[in-house]
Amino acid sequence: MSTPRPTIRGERHNDTNDLELRDYRLHEQVGQDELSIIYRATHQTLNRPVYVAILRRHDWISNSRFQLAARLAASLSHPHLLPVIDAGHDDRYGDYMVTPYIDARPLSDILAEGIPDLSLAMRVINQMAAALDYLHEQQIVHRDVQPANILVTPQGNAYLTNLSLAAAPDTPLDLSTLSEAEYLTPYSAPELHLTQTEAHPALDIYSLGAVAYHLLSGELPPSGLIVELDLAGKSPALALAERALLRMLSPQPNLRFPTAGAAANALRLALRTLLDQTTTDMEESRWETCAEWFENPLELALTAELADLAEQFNHFLTESRKRADNLHRRDYLRKWFNRWSRQHPFRRQSLGQLIEFETIASYNIYFYELEVLYEFRTSPKTQIRPMQLDERPIAEPALDLWKMQLPPPKDFASEAGGDVVLPGSRRFFTCPDCQGSGQVQCSQCQGKGMIKPRAKQGEPDPVEQTCTQCRGYGKVRCEKCAGNGNLVEEKVFHWSRKALAYENNDDSEGLPPRVQALLRQRARKVYEAEIDLYDSHWQSAGPLSALIEKAIKEAGEQGQPLRALLQIKGAMVTQINGLLDEQECELYLIGPDETLVSTISLWNWERIALVVVLALFVVMAVVVGIIMI
Ligand SMILES: [Zn+2]
Ligand SMILES: [Zn+2]
Repeated sequence: MSTPRPTIRGERHNDTNDLELRDYRLHEQVGQDELSIIYRATHQTLNRPVYVAILRRHDWISNSRFQLAARLAASLSHPHLLPVIDAGHDDRYGDYMVTPYIDARPLSDILAEGIPDLSLAMRVINQMAAALDYLHEQQIVHRDVQPANILVTPQGNAYLTNLSLAAAPDTPLDLSTLSEAEYLTPYSAPELHLTQTEAHPALDIYSLGAVAYHLLSGELPPSGLIVELDLAGKSPALALAERALLRMLSPQPNLRFPTAGAAANALRLALRTLLDQTTTDMEESRWETCAEWFENPLELALTAELADLAEQFNHFLTESRKRADNLHRRDYLRKWFNRWSRQHPFRRQSLGQLIEFETIASYNIYFYELEVLYEFRTSPKTQIRPMQLDERPIAEPALDLWKMQLPPPKDFASEAGGDVVLPGSRRFFTCPDCQGSGQVQCSQCQGKGMIKPRAKQGEPDPVEQTCTQCRGYGKVRCEKCAGNGNLVEEKVFHWSRKALAYENNDDSEGLPPRVQALLRQRARKVYEAEIDLYDSHWQSAGPLSALIEKAIKEAGEQGQPLRALLQIKGAMVTQINGLLDEQECELYLIGPDETLVSTISLWNWERIALVVVLALFVVMAVVVGIIMI
């Protein structure tokens, strides 16, 4: 294990009772599922809170399923699936898997406290339906949807976790050694027998229905084949939802809804009047059922954790939600498109009446710019030099390399820096070459002071001459200590500072290039502040977290980020999928001034042709007129 480098900002958690696994320090056990024990932990290099799940069963089948779950989760990316950020094998602990830390509780805990608020229940169902539809699109069936595998944040964001029973097409797995009883839950579809049933999405839709039943009634769904539910007696919500729930919980898989999203929509539609009464803030229910607001993970991170620091950001968010709230109503959209038609005479007229709106989704795209000032300190090198005449030993405390104060940084400017002696590293000692006398024997005359030149053949012995090097003294100044007899040993390091800029943005690759360009152009500054790169709040926003990780890595072994300035620009977009002349079309409205981009032509060719013909007539008339004259 390498010793952790000291950080400038924030103290590292350093509890000696903690265990270590690779670069993770494990704090306490926070949970357990069929396969693993889950610990709250810290990634030590990045000083980032995480969860580490360690496989607790050691049979072959559990091993393979754990690894499969890690691989599967790492290949998926959805706002309502908990991502896996690392996985591997440790000699002492065995297989492990790492997920980001989120401030969330299992839905099972929330349910244990009673029936949750209806709008929260519907929100969780919608989010889980979105996650399941995403999995099903990749031909993956979760097979273990249950409240214990759903994490919910205080803001009502839900994450589906635990893919250890998931079935994926390219990873056949022999489950014949599984003990069924251990894996079947009250939320499992009646036909589910892990060893025999072919995995199909209807298994998950049943389980989602069972979770929905629990959320709405506060009770476990009835066991066995459900053909009838007496729900009116339980709660008014259930009475309205009865038909949709019965269909989700149908004993026949092919009678359940075709997709989880369709099931959630049916539930939402059934509960619309109730939701109208209970929802007060976002008022999702007043939107068309086809409309959706996609929350950016950054929005949660900034509003929940750093509210008072992000006033500008909150304004932007309020504005973009208000905008979405309007655009998510069909009547408003119709009026908006009709007005657009009136303002653009050469475009299709009465677009509001012509377009059939199918789905409407609004979201914000963010652009990140990060400026980081690094300080580098090379590892101290021992250096020996002569003591200076006026130099006296001073008592000073020994300091670690990074504890030493250097001149404060000048903004984000790079600095060449210089060499500095590490305090407390200085040691004085007698020069070993001259034993402190400051003089050594002259090498030319071996200390005799006189030199006898070599005799030439046939000539008398030459006369001894005074040694030129020591001028007859026999001793010369000791070079090692520059003649003062003492040496100094000290540790010297070199420091320097370097500013680097990074940029990144939310994924917008699926959008038409014109939309991407407009988003970049319209993006306005919504946040600017110096941040702590090691602050875990930033990790929930994918692209930003990647940027920060890159910036931290760039520091290398000898560097530390000193200051980091984050600037975020945001742009609002609403995406409308609909039909125009029975042709599929995608329309994008880019806020705040609502520039319209369409994937199909909106030109009014008849009107354009008419104007061209009229213009030709006028020209001809003029020409004829001129000729007549
Ligand atoms: Zn010496
Ligand atoms: Zn000499």
